[in-house]
Amino acid sequence: MPTQLPQHHDAIVLGAGAAGLFCAARMGQAGRRVLVIDHAAKPAEKVRISGGGRCNFTNLETKADRFLSANPHFAKSALARYTPWDFIGLMGRHGLTWHEKTLGQLFCDQKSGAIIQMLLDELAAGQGELRLGTKIEAVTHADGVFRVETSGGAVTAPKLVVATGGLSIPKMGATGLAYDIARQFGQDIAPTKAALVPFVFTGADHEDFASISGVACEVRAAAGSAAFEEAMLFTHRGLSGPAILQVSSYWTPGEAVTLTLLPGTDIAETLKAAKRNHALQSLGTALEALFAKRLADLVLRRAGLETGARLADLSHATLDALAAQLTRWAVRPAGTEGYRTAEVTAGGVDTAGLSSKTMESRHVPGLHFIGECVDVTGWLGGYNFQWAWASAAAAAGE
Ligand SMILES: Cc1cc2nc3c(=O)[nH]c(=O)nc-3n(C[C@H](O)[C@H](O)[C@H](O)COP(=O)(O)OP(=O)(O)OC[C@H]3O[C@@H](n4cnc5c(N)ncnc54)[C@H](O)[C@@H]3O)c2cc1C
Repeated sequence: MPTQLPQHHDAIVLGAGAAGLFCAARMGQAGRRVLVIDHAAKPAEKVRISGGGRCNFTNLETKADRFLSANPHFAKSALARYTPWDFIGLMGRHGLTWHEKTLGQLFCDQKSGAIIQMLLDELAAGQGELRLGTKIEAVTHADGVFRVETSGGAVTAPKLVVATGGLSIPKMGATGLAYDIARQFGQDIAPTKAALVPFVFTGADHEDFASISGVACEVRAAAGSAAFEEAMLFTHRGLSGPAILQVSSYWTPGEAVTLTLLPGTDIAETLKAAKRNHALQSLGTALEALFAKRLADLVLRRAGLETGARLADLSHATLDALAAQLTRWAVRPAGTEGYRTAEVTAGGVDTAGLSSKTMESRHVPGLHFIGECVDVTGWLGGYNFQWAWASAAAAAGE
């Protein structure tokens, strides 16, 4: 029986997620014969679940300091050459509209499925081919040509774009393939960790936080050099909510996270004013003007104060001490929920081994890494998709 020759393409993209589909679409429309391969049954599943189903597809505040990377300058070039407005323009050409929720975060009015359809339509416009449900078995490189062995046969191309994402949410098919390929070709890997992820606690903290799970509060959460003012949510396992997810990316295990509850409010002054104006009011009632009742009760229990204590009977020093506890509340997470629930993977393919203009390997011509597998990790709020689009456009190169 004659051996079947591998199918030859101008470029092969591994991973049909946000970055891979967009990169392939751009190369296809520039006249290249492109093949996209993914082991999943459906493309871009993370786009589908993103932003609560409405895909927070970009952020108007995009700039390099919203991203973590061993090289904080690396992302600048790609982000400057493909901006949020470029993606907004593309959506407009497909009749998609958007709204800004908060902090520059843009969501798609037609829901995330419409963004996926737009990416697929863009791919089809360039006659790019998409092969789903296809296992990637091996990648080799010889004489300037990459050969990818798949469950559907071998394919070859002079250009290989690796866009298989990070380790977050293995249930959705996340794998470390990008890191394996990077290592195989001599690229360094910046240590990976779960990021944009809830914290878990043990002992008394765990019991206390679980006892008020579902309660939210505005906080300033600080860890390392970073601090974020947004909502925090108590959960059955510990702490979550935007402020916590953000700060988790900067947290190192063992470190304390400092919480300032109601950062815009002078809690001590509020309690003293309540004492002046309603001396007979209970401390519990005064705190309930600031916090949800269950949180107020917990705060008082932890401070060893009686809910029913009358403000008139409490010294200013006691009120100051209580306020200080709430504005400098150091909590020590036992860990994070890990890759099981993390929105992204921090770390990844070391940017020192990549061109910031083209995302091409400095060691192996024609080999590119884009999207989440690269050591560029965005804040919460649409930054990670903007990196996916921008790095994809850079690697597409047209
Ligand atoms: C719950 C959730 C909500 C999120 N919401 C937002 C949001 O609103 N805004 C935002 O900016 N970011 C959000 N993110 C982050 C964002 O989804 C990712 O940063 C982005 O999808 C990364 O794009 P990517 O193309 O690099 O990787 P992915 O989108 O993860 O795509 C990788 C693709 O590679 C395939 N693949 C993986 N391993 C293999 C293998 N071994 N063989 C073949 N194929 C493989 C996968 O099936 C997948 O299709 C969210 C993430 C999660 C988990």
